[in-house]
Amino acid sequence: MSSKKGIKFYKRTDFKITLWYIFTFTVTTLIICTFMYLRLRHHLIKEIDRFLQDESREFAFKISETPMNFKVVIRKYEGDIVTREYYPIYFRVLNADGRVVATSQNFAELIYPINQEKLRGIGLGSRYVETVKVPGKRTPFRFLSSRLTVDKRFDYVVQIGTGMKSMRKTLGNLRENILTALPITLVLGAIGGWLLARRGLAPIAYITEEAQKITATNLGNRLHPRQSDDEIDHLIATINEMISRLEDSFKRMNQLTADVSHELRTPISAMRGEAELLLSKPRPSGEYRRALVTYIEKLDFLTRMIDDLILLSKFDSNEAGLTMMQIKLDRLLSNLWEFFKVLAEQKRIGFTLGEIEQVDVVGDRTRLQQLFTNLIDNAIKFTPSGGRIDMSLQKDEGFAKVSIKDTGIGIPDAEFKHIFERFYQVDKSRGREGGGMGLGLSICQWIAKAHHGKIELESEVGKGSHFVVSLPLVAEK
Ligand code: ADP
Repeated sequence: MSSKKGIKFYKRTDFKITLWYIFTFTVTTLIICTFMYLRLRHHLIKEIDRFLQDESREFAFKISETPMNFKVVIRKYEGDIVTREYYPIYFRVLNADGRVVATSQNFAELIYPINQEKLRGIGLGSRYVETVKVPGKRTPFRFLSSRLTVDKRFDYVVQIGTGMKSMRKTLGNLRENILTALPITLVLGAIGGWLLARRGLAPIAYITEEAQKITATNLGNRLHPRQSDDEIDHLIATINEMISRLEDSFKRMNQLTADVSHELRTPISAMRGEAELLLSKPRPSGEYRRALVTYIEKLDFLTRMIDDLILLSKFDSNEAGLTMMQIKLDRLLSNLWEFFKVLAEQKRIGFTLGEIEQVDVVGDRTRLQQLFTNLIDNAIKFTPSGGRIDMSLQKDEGFAKVSIKDTGIGIPDAEFKHIFERFYQVDKSRGREGGGMGLGLSICQWIAKAHHGKIELESEVGKGSHFVVSLPLVAEK
């Protein structure tokens, strides 16, 4: 059998919950009924014992009234109790040696062996009760044996007992009632369990149905919470957040594809136009050579852009494969300073190395080098001749803080949040001249985050920019 949604009946959660419900319900009911049954049985036996105690006391009292004539008293007592139907009395009097001195007539129906050891115990003052099963009789008997002293001289043992028929019937009744009520309760319990399970799982059917409707083309749709603020609403909120994240990355992917196409198309069309113009008439060989040199430069630019894009897509799919190791950050920065100082000097920019503390971080050497190269490269690119760049490294609250400060053209406040986006350039014309394509800072941002760090920025147009990269320090041993 299978449901219309294609899940086999016995695999359905509501079916399993109902089975568990029935199982738990049955076990609990059985435990409670057994407990009640045993309690009642215990209580009834106790009642019989109390009754036998009373009877035994009365017997002793009657004998103590006329001790010299106790056999007559016994006969009279027997006459008094002969009419009892529900609790018929059986009794037997034994002397200290265990010999029978007197018995009730109905005692002949029973087989109740005399236990000398127990009789001796009674001689010492204790008394005991026991249940006696007589072969051939359904109902057991309960007997109380106690000591009887006549005339302060002669010791006897009186054994008084009664049948346990009433108790057997009461317990039998209870058993029958339980057995009749149990199946009815179980059926009702099963129906209740099934309804509860269906009710509890109904929102899941809703979620499944709604989630199935969402595809790449309508990622803007959301599931509607039921306003019950329960786990199901939280699940719906979580799914909605997941869809939002998917929608975001879809949008970003689409945007990226559009940007990439645009960024590639513009230089390629330009190159094609130039080539057509070049071929439109015969030209001196020097002109062809010059054109080919610019083509190589432009192709280099495109190759760099494609490399950066490949790197970013690797970052996105977590395939960048960072090789983490302990790195002396002060040494890495000093080497970069040596290298870029020459480039800065060519542009007549003063590049100074400020305070550089000895700092170790855990990271990927190539990527960290790339991060600081991009930042220094930007600083040189966006600082006019005569400007200054300062670089320093300090420890601060568990972080290594690398500061790269320039006196360049600066970045407007409104652009702060955008400059880390892919292909974002504050002003296309100023980036292009320096060979930029708006990917550098997104790569920097990603590398910093992958090292559990961050990049902060302060800048003022016309005065300069200040980038601070924070990376966690290696914990000191
Ligand atoms: P690009 O390849 O264009 O440099 P980036 O992602 O490195 O791309 O930088 C994005 C934009 O941020 C740049 O186009 C530039 O306008 C601005 N920018 C980055 N660094 C600086 C800086 N030190 N001074 C001024 N503007 C900067």
